[in-house]
Amino acid sequence: MADTTVLIVGGGFAGVTCAQHLAKHNVDVILLDQNNYHQFQPMLYQVATAQVAAYDIARPLRGIFHRDKTVDLRRTAAASIDPTTRSVTTASGSVLSGEYLVMAAGAQANFFGTPGAAEHALPLYSVNDAERLRAHILDVLDATVDRPKLVDRGSLNFVIVGGGPTGVETAGALAEVLRDVVPDRYRSLAAPAKVHLVDLGDVLLAPFSDKAHTYAAKRLERDGVTLHLGVGVKEVLQDRVTLTDGTEIITRTVIWGGGEKPADVIATAGLPTGRGGRIDVQRDLTVAGHPRVYVLGDAANVPGADGVILAQLGSVAQQSGAWAARNILDSIAGKPGRAFRYKDKGIMAMIGRNAAVAEMGPHRHEVEGPVAFAAWLGVHAMLLSGIRSKIDAFIAWGWDYFSKNRATAVVDGPDAARIEWGDDDHGERPEFEPHPAGS
Ligand SMILES: Cc1cc2nc3c(=O)[nH]c(=O)nc-3n(C[C@H](O)[C@H](O)[C@H](O)COP(=O)(O)OP(=O)(O)OC[C@H]3O[C@@H](n4cnc5c(N)ncnc54)[C@H](O)[C@@H]3O)c2cc1C
Repeated sequence: MADTTVLIVGGGFAGVTCAQHLAKHNVDVILLDQNNYHQFQPMLYQVATAQVAAYDIARPLRGIFHRDKTVDLRRTAAASIDPTTRSVTTASGSVLSGEYLVMAAGAQANFFGTPGAAEHALPLYSVNDAERLRAHILDVLDATVDRPKLVDRGSLNFVIVGGGPTGVETAGALAEVLRDVVPDRYRSLAAPAKVHLVDLGDVLLAPFSDKAHTYAAKRLERDGVTLHLGVGVKEVLQDRVTLTDGTEIITRTVIWGGGEKPADVIATAGLPTGRGGRIDVQRDLTVAGHPRVYVLGDAANVPGADGVILAQLGSVAQQSGAWAARNILDSIAGKPGRAFRYKDKGIMAMIGRNAAVAEMGPHRHEVEGPVAFAAWLGVHAMLLSGIRSKIDAFIAWGWDYFSKNRATAVVDGPDAARIEWGDDDHGERPEFEPHPAGS
């Protein structure tokens, strides 16, 4: 459609889906992302625990849109957003604008001001985070083989902060790798590794049912995870973490899954924010007073049909992206936007091989174990298929994992995540750049 440009900030589930729908109608789109790839966040912890490679869960944006001639991709960070002029100033100082602006910059880790967390904890929000964490885990294991006394300095204690899906899934996967794979590959380790999970709440997987809370806790405890529930993190130091009940855990690995907040650039728009610092949007996904500005996915408080804010989920982001595109097409055609209707597929979390919890559909039909695992796989395959055509690798991973055909693999990490042990080691930790393969 000539003369109308839609400027989209963020190539996550929401931004990519919106651009894909607009491209089908030949609308000119500028899609801007700080990375040159789209990432599949639900599988970040599999990368962090060396079960899959980064290129299995990231896909170059230029590959996704190679047939869409109306989509102009820009790999650049948005530094600030002006909703009045529907324009974005990039980190390099150029200004881009559109007749419509879609803000879909997602979220980032929220440390809630916990002293030392931003400096010493490892968040799990991007492919870079996952690769850094994987390299860090491999580094502490290798260092401990080399210098067994590091066990006394917490090298084999792994602390995960957050008892929501991210924390539970990471704890389950890490415990499994440390139990099933590490003793075989690191035969001379002086002691078994320990996983601790800390959460301020009294239960795991709070948005799920009581039954799921109990199931997740029992399953993790069975896998050797020590739960610290009803306890907060007071401080994260380079060599330990202290909890609000006075517990001190000597460790070099604190993984942060303790909450999220919108990407920094979202606040620069100066739009009204609500719960979680996210931008409140109207039922048609536009911002009040800005009829051609849409905020989607994790950056927004997206209301469901009952007005209740929907959770920050891939399916919410994806569906809001498709819906915004339809409303933009209607608006171009001079029609009013329609209120977003979310098709609720439920909520689910995978705790480990053969163990998951799923509450399916709007009525939250509850399943656990292998059936829930299959449901997780089905729903995530659907989510992935919206972005990429080939999901065979994902399905193969899922079923091999489920059926134990494939051992969980510890792959070589970049030789880089040097840890400051504070004595003879002065290595620096360099930055990582993932290199997603193929398109
Ligand atoms: C570890 C983890 C596990 C998860 N597991 C599940 C799950 O199992 N099921 C599920 O449904 N959901 C899951 N989620 C949530 C789901 O991934 C998110 O809800 C979804 O990705 C949100 O989509 P989005 O498009 O809003 O943002 P994102 O997917 O985060 O995309 C935002 C994009 O904006 C870009 N960006 C940010 N800032 C800028 C800037 N200044 N300039 C340019 N670009 C920028 C980013 O690079 C990114 O590409 C998980 C999330 C995490 C972190």
